[in-house]
Amino acid sequence: MRKGILFFSGLFFIIVRPDMKAEKPFNFEQTPGKLPKEVVPVEYSVRIVPSIDKFTFHGTETVKLSVRRPVHQLVLNALELEIAGASVDGKALPDSPIKIDKKNELLTLALPSELTTGEHTLALSFTGKINQQGQGLFYVPYHEHGSGTKKIMLATQFEATDARRFFPCWDEPAFRARFQLTTVVPENWLAVSNMPIESETKLADEKEVRFATTPSMSSYLNVFVAGELDLIESRSGPTQLRVIATKGKAEMGRYALETSAQILQYYNNYFGVPYPLPKLDQIALPGGFGGAMENWGGITYYESALLFDPKNSSAETKQNIYEVLAHEMAHQWFGNLVTMAWWDNLWLNEGFGSWMGTKCTSPGSKRWKAMQDRQRIRFSSLSRPRRKLTAPSTI
Ligand SMILES: [Zn+2]
Repeated sequence: MRKGILFFSGLFFIIVRPDMKAEKPFNFEQTPGKLPKEVVPVEYSVRIVPSIDKFTFHGTETVKLSVRRPVHQLVLNALELEIAGASVDGKALPDSPIKIDKKNELLTLALPSELTTGEHTLALSFTGKINQQGQGLFYVPYHEHGSGTKKIMLATQFEATDARRFFPCWDEPAFRARFQLTTVVPENWLAVSNMPIESETKLADEKEVRFATTPSMSSYLNVFVAGELDLIESRSGPTQLRVIATKGKAEMGRYALETSAQILQYYNNYFGVPYPLPKLDQIALPGGFGGAMENWGGITYYESALLFDPKNSSAETKQNIYEVLAHEMAHQWFGNLVTMAWWDNLWLNEGFGSWMGTKCTSPGSKRWKAMQDRQRIRFSSLSRPRRKLTAPSTI
């Protein structure tokens, strides 16, 4: 996420002192957190059916578990979810052993017998809320570009600990797992998640959309966005690139689309590890939250941070878009591919994202010069007296 660059760079100089001892290498058992480490999720299959008129949703999920030591209960995270039913290895649990600890945001399922070491399956059905604020699953009201018609769309925001409002999960960064999302949305809506759509099935007035399974990742990096959306797309090597916005606004993402192709190529070379997902979406939301969030494969932005209107936006807007894209795309590697074990090292995530954002866009870099050259050509063709373009004061 991108909020305070100055804060994190300041923190960097305070924390990195010569008399400080290095942190111990990653150790899952000793990673802080509230969740016991005996049971780890391996793969989730989650189906969410929103009731848009009621601002609620119904969900079901199946979680493949790896039980590392025998347990008598399962403990995971849930917040503002009502659990309607639970089963382990196909056997339903009675209501009474299902406990929700609201204060600690924990769901505890007492098991009728010991769960042995090895693979097991947990299945849950639940209901939740579609929020007004940008937490968990939320709705965004807006006026459609051009027509002015009132519309709403859906989006999610999970960092740091709000995936647990969408589905019960092991919602701590060290519990990486694969996620497969299925949802049901109105027929004329576009649904977007981390991975491409695997299949669509027509229902009565709606459609069921099934997304491909993600690579192993932390729960806070999941994303789901749906609405009457438009997109523009391109391709960079094996990666499909898209900019997605509410109807009528996708073309304002042209600059972001071109820029994201350049930045992707730069990072693929710089990191030496190609971007691993088949697609990367930049998604403009007309409200709900400020800034941007680096969900793997589906980055969300407050729309003014992503869209550029050649008629009304300033050159400074372009620089800001470039920098935010560079920051969020750096997280696709640093944060998403490799994640901090616990939130106390989030500053490393953000510090590096900001550093790469600046490196990628810094004056003197080839990319920045190319961008300046393009701007120079455009400006000189638009305005003859204006021959020189000065370097921007802030990047
Ligand atoms: Zn960030």
